[in-house]
Parts: sequence; C-alpha cells; structure tokens
Amino acid sequence: MVERTALPASGADWAALEPRMLEAKAGDADWRHGRLAVYVHYAGEEVLEVAKRAYMMFFSENGLGPAAFPSLARFEREVVEMTLGLLAAPPGAKGTMTSGGSESIFLAVKSARDRARARQPGIARPHIVAPSTVHPAFNKAAHYLGLAVNRIPSMADFRADAKAMAAAVTGETIMLVGSVPAFPHGVIDPVPALAEIARRKEIWLHVDACVGGFIAPFARRLGRPIPDFDFSVPGVASISADLHKYGFSAKGASTVLYADEEHFQYQAYAFDGWPRGRYVTQGFPGTRPGGAIAAAWAVMNHLGEAGYLDLARRIIATRETIEAGVVRLGLEVWGKPELAITSYGSRALDIFAVADGLAAAGWFVGRLAAPSGIHLMLTIAHEPVVEEYLAAVAAAVAAVRGKASPRAKSGVTY
Ligand SMILES: *Cc1c(COP(=O)(O)O)cnc(C)c1O
Repeated sequence: MVERTALPASGADWAALEPRMLEAKAGDADWRHGRLAVYVHYAGEEVLEVAKRAYMMFFSENGLGPAAFPSLARFEREVVEMTLGLLAAPPGAKGTMTSGGSESIFLAVKSARDRARARQPGIARPHIVAPSTVHPAFNKAAHYLGLAVNRIPSMADFRADAKAMAAAVTGETIMLVGSVPAFPHGVIDPVPALAEIARRKEIWLHVDACVGGFIAPFARRLGRPIPDFDFSVPGVASISADLHKYGFSAKGASTVLYADEEHFQYQAYAFDGWPRGRYVTQGFPGTRPGGAIAAAWAVMNHLGEAGYLDLARRIIATRETIEAGVVRLGLEVWGKPELAITSYGSRALDIFAVADGLAAAGWFVGRLAAPSGIHLMLTIAHEPVVEEYLAAVAAAVAAVRGKASPRAKSGVTY
C-alpha cells in the first residue's frame, strides 16, 4: 500500500522548505538550456524577470473583481486591444483574456453553440467540422458542451483539406476550424479557403492561433510568406491566441477574440438566483490570478513590436537550422513548417530508436504519432544549443544505422 502524505503537524519556515523544493526540482527537464522543446516558452532572462516582477506585484489581486482592481481591468483591456491590433481586427471587434488556449477554445465553441441555438433552435446533434490535426481542446470542449467533432483527414502536406471539409458540412454544423499553425506538424491551414466555405454556408469559423497568434504576425512583418489567417479574412468569426506561448508571458494567459459584438455576446455567463445577487463572468473561472493579467501587460509593453520581431526572427532561424541539419543526416521534415514548430522522421530508419538515443543523451524528446517523428516547439532556449542538438541527433542516427534493430527492419509506421 502506498503511504498517503499527511499534513505536517507543525509548519516549516521557507529556509527549510526551499532546499527540499530545489531538490525535488533537480530531476525536472532543463528547459533553460534547451533540453526540451515543449511546455516552456523562454525568451531570455530579461523577459522572464519582467514577467515575474509583474506577476509578483499582482500576486494576491483577483481578476474576478474589476471594480476593486481597476488596474487589472485596464491591463486586460489593453492586452486584448493590442492583440486585436496584431490580428487585424475591425473596429467593433471584442475579446477577453482567459486562463489558456483550452479555455479560449472552450469559450469560442460555447459561443458558437449558443449562437446556433438562438438562430436555429431545431438542431438536434450540433457538431464541429475540423481538420484531423486540430488540438484535442476542441474534442474536450465538445465533450463538455454536448457537441461532436467530425475530424476530416488533412492533405498529404498536413494542411486542412478545405474541399473535404466543405463536403462534410451539414445543416447541423455549427463551427469550422483551422489552425495557425496546427500543433503536430507546425503547418498553417488554408484559412481563406475555410473562410470562403464559412461565408457561403453561414457557419462560424474559428482560427486556432493559440501557438501562432504571437509569432505569425511578426513572421509576416519579417517578409515571410505567411498566408492570410487573421481578421483581415472575411468570415473569420473568432481567434484564439495564447499569451503564455509566443506572447512569452506567465502561464495562465491567453486571449479569445471575436470579429464583432454579435458573435461575442454569447460568451458571458450570468446568474442571479442566489442570495449574493448578480454574478457575471466572461470565462470559465471565477477567481482569476491577477499576476497572469499583469505579467501579460508588462511583457507586451517590455517587448513591443521590435522585441517580438527580433524573437520571431531568431526562433524561425533556429528552426531552419535544425531542419537543414536533420535533412543533411538523411532524415525528412514533415510538411512545410512556417513558424516555431517542426517535426521530422524517416522513411528508412526507426525514428523512435533515434528518439530513444536522444533521450538517453539527456534530451527530452517530443514524439509525433502520425507520421512517426520527433516533434519540436522551439524558443530562444534552443538558439545556443542547435549544434549540440544536431550532434546528438547525428550520434543517435549513427547508432541506429549501426544496429539495424528489429524495429528498423519492420519499417516506419507511416
Ligand atoms: C497549446 C495549444 C492549445 C491549448 O492551449 P493550452 O494553453 O495548453 O490550454 C490549443 N491549440 C493549439 C494549436 C495549441 O498549440
């Protein structure tokens, strides 16, 4: 039987707790030195320091109470306005901050569901039509909200198949989705083609720019050929963009944005059937960490457009160097990634044996299921270790080639 941890009979001071926590932390992945390419978005010590100081300044304040904390209300409004500006939103566009991408997606799906209910009360089994590559948050939201998701296989280049999605639309489709980019391969779905379907069939189009919303606009300003993806495309009803990814803010911060008040009006929840009076929240939580709102405001104002442009340029260059390096080793990049995510595999070699070799050498490896591959979501932490990483991949590839393991002989799972 596993011993259950009990609350200590008496407390310990910080001086006693700190070493215990540092010891616990010693076994964690070393994100600061680029040993993992997922979960943490590092933009350097200076940005991290700004986020931490802002977070600590508002550590105890609660975003649930904008009347008590007008500072947080203003920070949130300005963060949303700055993000609307980055995503070419028209003057009447609206939005809120949320706790993360999953909540942003949940709220967009909930708003689309409630709008469909109001406009077409006869829909019995409402569903979402999405590419096979969209984030599980759509299935999670659908599960919570009594909807279904029809995932349509993406094309050979891993981008959404707009024709097949159009063919899957029925009278009970309440939302179409495209990702900028999709998490698995880092490729951008054809938003203009999806928007055309959305306009023609009068269906809500959500653009999931959770991982791309704060890098795609800057990639475009750097002259990269990023296809149209934001509110400049007529038919885009809502966009999710995570501040705690390439916004480089503290975790617990994302945005969900709407083209206009008509779509936004379905997001809020209000209740007054209890003794304390009217209770209204825009998002899922009640209590909200003031620190997450404050840190987002501080980081955006610290970096400014120039800061984000510099980070986008360096991260994209890091991805391209890694891609060129793995291709030189005889491996293959899946699809045509355009921002900070990439994935690679092999049609000849057991890529998971390569992944095992990397893991044994101290790299935390993200594994892609289809096609088999190694997945990377890159940040500034990877910039100084690119050559070290490529040397580790080369060594792992050489070991796998040398062994010709039974797994390699059985071929790739493609
Ligand atoms: C990260 C991500 C999400 C979910 O965001 P969380 O902040 O982890 O809840 C949704 N969609 C995409 C494309 C993502 O990369």
